[in-house]
Amino acid sequence: MADIIKLLPDHVANQIAAGEVVQRPASVVKELLENAIDADSTTIKLSIKDGGKSLIQVIDDGIGMSETDARLSFERHATSKIQKAEDLFKLNTKGFRGEALASIAAIAHVEMQTKPENRDIGSHIKIEGSKIIFQEVIVTAKGTSIAVKNLFFNIPARRNFLKSNHVELRHIIDEFHRVVLAHPAISFHFYNNGSELFHLTGTNYRQRIVHVFGAKTNQKLVPVNEQTPLVKISGFITKPEFAKKSRGEQFFFVNNRFIKSPYLHHAIVSAFEGLIRPDAYPGYFLYLEVDPASIDINIHPTKTEVKFDDEHTLYAIIRSTIKHSLGQFNVAPVLDFEHDQNLETPYAYRDKDAVVPNVSVDRGFNPFIQEKATTGYGSNFRKEAQSNWESLYTGLRSNLNKDEGSSSERYESDVITGSIFEGQTNDIESGATTFQLRRKYIVTTIKSGMVVIDQSRAHQRVLYEKLLRNGTVKDTVSQQLLFPLSLTYSKSDMKLLNEIKESLVTMGFVFGAILDEMVQVMGVPVLMAESEVEMVLDQLLSDYQMEIEGDSFSQTDIISKTLSKMLAVKTGEVLDRSSQMSLVNDLFACKESRVSPFNKPIFITITENDIDKKFI
Ligand code: ADP
Ligand code: MG
Repeated sequence: MADIIKLLPDHVANQIAAGEVVQRPASVVKELLENAIDADSTTIKLSIKDGGKSLIQVIDDGIGMSETDARLSFERHATSKIQKAEDLFKLNTKGFRGEALASIAAIAHVEMQTKPENRDIGSHIKIEGSKIIFQEVIVTAKGTSIAVKNLFFNIPARRNFLKSNHVELRHIIDEFHRVVLAHPAISFHFYNNGSELFHLTGTNYRQRIVHVFGAKTNQKLVPVNEQTPLVKISGFITKPEFAKKSRGEQFFFVNNRFIKSPYLHHAIVSAFEGLIRPDAYPGYFLYLEVDPASIDINIHPTKTEVKFDDEHTLYAIIRSTIKHSLGQFNVAPVLDFEHDQNLETPYAYRDKDAVVPNVSVDRGFNPFIQEKATTGYGSNFRKEAQSNWESLYTGLRSNLNKDEGSSSERYESDVITGSIFEGQTNDIESGATTFQLRRKYIVTTIKSGMVVIDQSRAHQRVLYEKLLRNGTVKDTVSQQLLFPLSLTYSKSDMKLLNEIKESLVTMGFVFGAILDEMVQVMGVPVLMAESEVEMVLDQLLSDYQMEIEGDSFSQTDIISKTLSKMLAVKTGEVLDRSSQMSLVNDLFACKESRVSPFNKPIFITITENDIDKKFI
C-alpha cells in the first residue's frame, strides 16, 4: 500500500487550531487584550463594530515589536513568553502558547501596526487567511494596534453559527469585565460602533468594580483578606441581602487570570449557606495569588481552567475566609461561646434596669374561625391585587369583547362551558362553587367530577396572556408613580434596559430621563406596587440576559413571563370566594389554560369515576 500520511499545510493546521482558540468574537477580544497586558501597556483601547463580526481593534501603548518580531508573531508556537518547559512553572504572563495571533490570522483579515520605544519607525503588516498581503515600514506611535476584520470570512459555517450582534456584544462585554477586573491599574476604553461604552481609568480593585458595575455596588461589597503559606486571598463578596435570583456577579481570579472552577465556586457558595435563599446567588470578586508552580493552567486552550496541586485545602481555606468576612462585618450572625457576654454590653446600658419586653397578644384569636381573606396578603401589592382583582377581571373582559368583533380568535361568551375541556363532559357546572385548599389550590366542580387548580400557576397564565395582549394591542394601563424613582444601574445593565425599553413601555412602564447609569421610572404597569419596581426590573434584566444567551423568543414574551411570575398570587395567599371564582373564569378564558407560561400543568381533573373507584 502506498504511503498516505501527509503533514497538513500550515494554514490548514492554523485553521484547526483557530477552532479551539477562537469560538466567537469575544475570544479574539480576550486574546488581544491579554497580549496588550503582557506588553506592559498602561492604556488599552478596544473598538468593535457589529458585535465584533466586522471589526475588533485593540490599540495599546505597550512595548511594541521589532520588524522581525512583528512578522514572527503570526507564526504558530511563536512566543516571547516562554523559552523552555520549566518556564511554564513560573508564568506571570497571560499568554504562553504562541497560538492566538496565528489562529486569528488564519480566519480573518488582520492588520497590525507596531513600534517599540527605541525605534524611529515601526512596521505595518496585513494578513488575510494566513497569507501575508504586505509588510512595510510606517511612522507610528510606540505600542501596537491590531485590527481584526471579517472574522470567519473563510469558514462560512462558523460565521453562520454566530449569534446576533447584541448577543455577541454581551459575550464581549463579559470578557471585557473579566479582563478589566483583573487589571485595575490599567486604563481601558471601550467603543462599540463608535460610541463609548466604558471609560475606565487606572485605580484600585474596589473602585474598578464600582466603575464597572455602577455606583450602588460600593455599599454591597464586603472585603475579604487572608494570607496563608499556600495562598493569598483578597477581594470582595457582596452582602447576603444583595444575592441575586438568577445572575450573580461572580468572578474568580487566580494570579490575575479569570478562572472557572466549579469546585471552588462551591466553596464560596457554601460559606453563604443559611444566609441566602437556596435559589439565590451570592456575588463575589475573589483574587487568589498562588505560587505559579502549584497550578497548571495548561489544560485548556482558552486558559480558563486550572488544576491546583492542593484543591481540597484551598477549598477549606476559601470557605472559612469568607465565613470569617461575613462574620467580621456583621453580616452573618456569629455564635461565639468563648466570649463573656458582659464584656459586650455597651457602656450606656451598664447598670440600667432591664426593660420587660412588650408582647401583644390577640386575645380574641380563635383558630377555629375561618381566616379572613385579607390575612394572606402580605405586601401592599397583595392587598391592592386583591381589591383590584375585579378590575383586572373586568379589564380582561373588555379586552376580550373588543377582540370579538375583529379577531378570528373568538372567545366564547360563556367561557366556563367553552371548549377548553375538548368536548369532554366535564365542563364546570353552572352555579359551581369553589373553595381554597391549603392556600394553594382552588377546587371547583365540573360535570364529570372536580378540578384542582394551582392558584399561582393559574394567575401566572392569566397575567401572562393579558400582558402579551397589552404588548400587542397597545392599550396599556399604566399607573403614574407619585414620586418618580431614580434607579442606578451599571452601564451594561443600562444597555440591556435600553434594548428592552420599548417593550417595557408597551407593558405600562413610563420612563423619564435615561442617563449613563441612571434611569427615572415615572410609571409602572397597574398591579405593580412601587416597592416592587426595583426588584422586578432587576429580575427582568437578568431574565432577559439569560434568555438572549439561550436566544429564544421575543422580548415581549420574556418580559411577560417575568412579570407574570413576579406579580402572580403566590402559594400561601388566601383568596376570597369571588377572587377564586374570577380566577377560575379568567383561567378558562385563556387561550391555553392547561399549562403555565413556564410549561407547568395548571390543573388536574378528578372524575366521578376516579372517585367511585376509590370506594370499591
Ligand atoms: P502568546 O501571547 O501566547 O505568546 P500570541 O500569538 O498571542 O502568543 O502572541 C505572539 C507574540 O506576539 C507574543 O509572545 C508577543 O511577543 C507578541 N505580541 C502579541 N501581541 C503583542 C502586543 N500587543 N504588544 C507586543 N507584543 C505582542
Ligand atoms: Mg497571547
